[in-house]
Amino acid sequence: MTEKKKIGIMGGTFDPIHLGHLILGEEAYRQLDLDQVLYMPAGNPPHKRNRTGRAADEDRVQMIRLAIAGNPHFALSLFDMREEGYSYTYRLLETLNSEYSDCEFYFIMGADSLVDFDTWMNPQRIANAAHLVVATRNQMSNDSFEALLQKRREQYHGDFLRLDTPNLDISSQHLRELVGSGASVKYYVPDPVLDYIREHSLYRISE
Ligand code: ATP
Ligand code: MG
Repeated sequence: MTEKKKIGIMGGTFDPIHLGHLILGEEAYRQLDLDQVLYMPAGNPPHKRNRTGRAADEDRVQMIRLAIAGNPHFALSLFDMREEGYSYTYRLLETLNSEYSDCEFYFIMGADSLVDFDTWMNPQRIANAAHLVVATRNQMSNDSFEALLQKRREQYHGDFLRLDTPNLDISSQHLRELVGSGASVKYYVPDPVLDYIREHSLYRISE
């Protein structure tokens, strides 16, 4: 029997994609010996659509393209944008499993997502459908992070894996606020993304 391909899934809104997302994907690729990492933007949930200060789906997708260009083991996947409306992670992972039986999936997330995990739709089905790969975030202490991982393992009997990454205190929300107030986000996003944000006047809420 041939070994299954190990596919990392980086899900998120990527509004905009930033270095935290890219380093997370790269570390998961390296530390878990993945074959590929797919950046999979979620369709905008209805309550976020066309909100001022938010980028359109096409812009978020285009910024991901620019950010991952030239990395042979990163790819963009629009799989999660196929459906209209809110995308559910359990449904996404179950669909991926049934459509790609030659792959196993590693769902990559920051610790903030693990904190919220219980409130996601059908968390048990998520834990059944994929390995969950978690990186620290928001200055969470090492002890709290370990305790949270252990708690989730006991709750769901799933494979919750710890990823070691630098604690990069970067969030898309903060970047949107910076741009909105006229500040630069240079070094927080790759240069082509910076140019794209400028050229398309994204996140300029005051306009
Ligand atoms: P927003 O501020 O709009 O929520 P975000 O920066 O949290 O944006 P998302 O698109 O919500 O980015 O995140 C996608 C995934 O990447 C989530 O699992 C999130 O925890 C993780 N992530 C984002 N930024 C970081 C970071 N700096 N360090 C670790 N994980 C991160
Ligand atoms: Mg977030």
